[in-house]
Amino acid sequence: AAKGSGRRTYRFFEPEMQVRAQKRHDLEMEIRSALARQEFEVYYQPFVDIKTKTVLGAEALVRWRHPERGLISPADFIPIAEETGLIDQLGSWVLKTACHAAANWPERVRLAVNVSPVQFKGHTLALNVAAALGSSGLPANRLELEITEAVLIRDDEEALAILHELRGLGVRIALDDFGTGYSSLRYLQLFPFDKIKIDRCFISNINEPHGASHIVKAVVDIAAARNMTTTAEGVETAAQLDALRRLGCDQMQGYLFSPPQTEEALAHIVASAEHSIIKLH
Ligand code: C2E
Ligand code: MG
Ligand code: MG
Ligand code: MG
Repeated sequence: AAKGSGRRTYRFFEPEMQVRAQKRHDLEMEIRSALARQEFEVYYQPFVDIKTKTVLGAEALVRWRHPERGLISPADFIPIAEETGLIDQLGSWVLKTACHAAANWPERVRLAVNVSPVQFKGHTLALNVAAALGSSGLPANRLELEITEAVLIRDDEEALAILHELRGLGVRIALDDFGTGYSSLRYLQLFPFDKIKIDRCFISNINEPHGASHIVKAVVDIAAARNMTTTAEGVETAAQLDALRRLGCDQMQGYLFSPPQTEEALAHIVASAEHSIIKLH
């Protein structure tokens, strides 16, 4: 196909492609040295029971504390880490770091860790999870792995085998960003997830006349029928929280309750608030 596409097209894109490839290469090298220099940090965002406001757990979210550019969002480096395979090293570092932090939290507080689709190959992921649990002493049932629908697109059979292998270790599996991928409903049949996280795009307009409240309701009903828990992502207003409560959603996460916190601040939240019950309003 490249041969027939013509010289003009090739010439036109060449400089831009080179710049992009160079940028990618530079970033790859930077991520590599950032790993060596330990410039990554893990923040933790609590998720709470919608009815009791109890903190049920916290999600590990990685950041890059760049010496010159400050705190860099995962959206700016996770894709490159995925393309270059560095996500395996970064992902296992996050897992280990977060498990060690969570081992100090009260027993009822769970840890959720995001796992990239790229990490779903062979037995590496299960081995890394087992190692992180083993060295930290965190019980498997307090760890929740968040995966996206993209995991199931690539290679159903291998991904499913790995999901079952992980489940066999005793960890929970949550489906993240639900509703933003493709043929979502099929994936709910493929694997018995413990939790569905309803993407923020369905929460932000939940109270608008043509908003997504009926979609949220449908997801909550499907989840209930299949014994899965639901978490609403990105809850920012009390009005959204009220709507979610009416619709029967189980858990919420979002700036309304708390943004991602440092390890120290999170430990304080889960330990100090009496039974971690939060008075939202
Ligand atoms: P995610 O797993 O869906 O995480 C939720 C994102 O929404 C986080 O962004 C969080 O800070 C943000 N958020 C939470 N509440 C609110 C809210 O009320 N309003 C708004 N506007 N945003 C809210 P963050 O930390 O920038 O992470 C972005 C994405 O990067 C994550 O989406 C996840 O897909 C990925 N990511 C983060 N850490 C890791 C990691 O350790 N490994 C992998 N593979 N991916 C990660
Ligand atoms: Mg997540
Ligand atoms: Mg999410
Ligand atoms: Mg999301």
